[in-house]
Amino acid sequence: MSSRPSVLKASDVTLCALVCLAGVAVTALVLILFIGSEQRTVGVAFRLEVDERFSRLQRRFTAQDLKLNTVKRFFSNSDNVTEKEFLGFVTPLVEEGETYGWVARILDKDLETFHAKALLNGAGDFSYYEINPVTGVKVPLASRPEHWVLLYLVKRDDVKITPGMDVLARPSRLALLKRARETHQMVVSEPLKMTNGQSGVFFVAPVFQETSEVPLNDDGLQGYVVSTVRLAFLMEQGIPIPSLQRLDVTLSTVDAQHQGEIIYQSSARAAPSALYEQRLLKFADQNYLMQFRPTSTFLLANNYALSSSLIIVFGAGLTLLLTLMVYLLITQRARALALVAERTQDLRLLNITDHLTGVYNRRYFEELMEHLLIEANAQNRPLSLIMFDVDHFKYINDCWGHQCGDTVLKSLCTRIRSATRKTDLLCRTGGEEFALICPDSELEDTRLLAEKLRVLISTLPFDELGQVTCSFGVATWTPSESFDAFIRRADAAMYSAKSSGRDQVQLANS
Ligand code: GH3
Ligand code: MG
Ligand code: MG
Repeated sequence: MSSRPSVLKASDVTLCALVCLAGVAVTALVLILFIGSEQRTVGVAFRLEVDERFSRLQRRFTAQDLKLNTVKRFFSNSDNVTEKEFLGFVTPLVEEGETYGWVARILDKDLETFHAKALLNGAGDFSYYEINPVTGVKVPLASRPEHWVLLYLVKRDDVKITPGMDVLARPSRLALLKRARETHQMVVSEPLKMTNGQSGVFFVAPVFQETSEVPLNDDGLQGYVVSTVRLAFLMEQGIPIPSLQRLDVTLSTVDAQHQGEIIYQSSARAAPSALYEQRLLKFADQNYLMQFRPTSTFLLANNYALSSSLIIVFGAGLTLLLTLMVYLLITQRARALALVAERTQDLRLLNITDHLTGVYNRRYFEELMEHLLIEANAQNRPLSLIMFDVDHFKYINDCWGHQCGDTVLKSLCTRIRSATRKTDLLCRTGGEEFALICPDSELEDTRLLAEKLRVLISTLPFDELGQVTCSFGVATWTPSESFDAFIRRADAAMYSAKSSGRDQVQLANS
């Protein structure tokens, strides 16, 4: 029987690999599209968060501006503001981290009058002083045309200033106050270190006399409303802690002198990310740059690694399943095909062999002969035939039984096959009649072979029943002879052997 063909072919392996590759490609594509869309979503979420924070801060800065202007208007609209009035008006406006004050312009000649008035107003130990810029020590006021004295103060911060101080004694303030005086606008100082170590800014709003009683050669400046505010307070107050934790925010100056100096840095720090936004904030006469970066808290809240892993796991699973299914289909189909081929082969063998002896049957004998005759004719090669019949086989059956007769037929075939070439073809043409086709064999050689077979059968006993003999007829095909005529000649030779006494070989007449 034939061996089974290999179950999986190279093309099948290629198909499985292609399905697997397609699965991987589809998964990768979905992943790329997903990550792309997620990145856009995270980008949008980040911008929204920044916009929300920036507008909050803008409102916060605007509110600061408004408050200072309110206090400023309070002074411009009143002739003379007492400390009590100042405290009453300003105290409700002051928030945590802020300080508001009124710096009055006092001409040197009016200093005495002012002092007397201040004392009259109840400030018992009130005195004017200034800070020596070199030693940092409080000293009495030096003589100069005009003094800028901090008269009233409301603090909700621990800045070290007390009323009575001439603020101009600090040279650093000079430029700021001058700017406010010249522009008639609210100005904001460069960032300064507050006493608590934090960064803050100092706002100055000039208050001018609006009546026509302003003396000649005087700009009518009455004083300044001043305020300090801690930057951390400005930047963080009122913002929920979770929101603070999501963004890294820095504030830097963008004026000519302090280009890029960071004056505020949020405690939440940036995580590595390409996301970045910046906004320009205009406040008083200053421009500030706000820079925003996402923190790990923000990135974690907008994390898509889990969804990506799910896509990978799902895609890999689906790919594996598909590949497995295709593999199973292919192998099953291949197995079915192999089985069909095997069964077809079996059927073919059943069709052409004799079921008792396993040698070719009569039908195939005729097919073979027809084919071989055409070949011998075409190639001009010899073809011989030995026909033989068991002698007195009926007697064997009668004496030893039909089954024993069968065994004799099988043993006979085994013996003959063992003594002939592979190219010699043994066929059972009838009950106990056989034909041995010998291609490429001349008459004499075939006769010798028949004789050899006769001896082989008759000299070796068949198990319990002993000697069995056969009668042989040998013929060689003569060119242009028909199949029937050829068979008849061989058959006739065999019957001649029978009639001549059996157990012998007879040659056919040519
Ligand atoms: P002869 O020497 O003249 O050939 O005599 P014979 O008895 O061999 O010839 P005959 O034709 O009279 O008998 C052949 C017998 O072979 C008759 C038949 O029952 C028997 N036979 C045919 N086929 C089988 C078979 O497959 N098995 C068995 N056991 N016997 C068979
Ligand atoms: Mg017979
Ligand atoms: Mg016989």
